[in-house]
Amino acid sequence: MKIGLLGGTFDPIHMGHLIIAQEVRVRLGLDKIVFMPASHPWLKIDRKITDARHRLAMIKLAIASDSCFEVSTAELDRPGPTYTVDTVEALKAKSNPTDEWYFIVGSDALADFPRWKEPKRVISLCQIVQVERPGSSNIDLAALKPLIPEVSSCLRPVDVPQIDISSTAIRERVMMGYPIRYMVPPDVEAYIYEHGLYSR
Ligand code: ATP
Ligand code: MG
Repeated sequence: MKIGLLGGTFDPIHMGHLIIAQEVRVRLGLDKIVFMPASHPWLKIDRKITDARHRLAMIKLAIASDSCFEVSTAELDRPGPTYTVDTVEALKAKSNPTDEWYFIVGSDALADFPRWKEPKRVISLCQIVQVERPGSSNIDLAALKPLIPEVSSCLRPVDVPQIDISSTAIRERVMMGYPIRYMVPPDVEAYIYEHGLYSR
């Protein structure tokens, strides 16, 4: 099986996540996409992250209607900060050895790649699928090369519709009282209001 992994904070999940997941799945002929919420990403320690219970519930609502989408609590189930390399390794250990893994990363998140734990081992475990994101420039491959010579051959760029939506913008809009309709699935919108998330 060909499995795509989309890691993130998903605070909250939004249409941008769903659209890139679908596009990568179809373009690369993957069997499924697994959304993998992070417990407390070490790159985001400066911000308070919404309780995992809510983030997970919203992912489940968002993907319910797509049989090619799944969610994994692998990172939520591990205590402390989690690293892509450890999670992918653990997931692979539990799966069929013939499965192929693709880790989907937006260009903003990929810019942090050299700071990831053991980037070389990450690319030995899975292909990195690079998707462009509005407002974030392409990663500087030339700068990465001395650090990780294998990097260019392991990055798999996929063209995706450019959707200028971020969880940060969603949180800010809720706080300001602006609509988030059409930016998140209707059930996620309802969940946010019902639980008073992101409001003052
Ligand atoms: P935040 O603003 O809180 O950082 P976010 O919108 O960036 O939230 P994340 O959960 O951080 O969402 O992102 C998970 C992954 O999805 C990352 O690899 C990120 O680059 C990618 N991603 C998120 N939104 C988009 C988008 N609109 N287009 C392309 N990639 C995206
Ligand atoms: Mg982000």
